[in-house]
Amino acid sequence: MAKPRKCPKCSTEIGIDDDICHACGENVPFNHPWYTLPIGGLIVLGIFWLLTDFDALIEYVGLHLN
Ligand SMILES: [Zn+2]
Repeated sequence: MAKPRKCPKCSTEIGIDDDICHACGENVPFNHPWYTLPIGGLIVLGIFWLLTDFDALIEYVGLHLN
C-alpha cells in the first residue's frame, strides 16, 4: 500500500517511516495521506461516543422537554 519514497536531493530510496535521508541528511517530511484527518476525526468521535454517558444525557434532555 505504501509506496517507497525517494530523496528529492540525491534520489536515494527512503523508508516510508523515515523523515530524514540517510544518505545526504536531507529533511524529507513525511507525507500524511489525505485520509489521515477524517480517520483521526472518526477516532475522536468514537472516543467521545464511548465516554459520553448517553443515558444521563437523554434523561437530562427528556426532563427539560417535558
Ligand atoms: Zn538524500
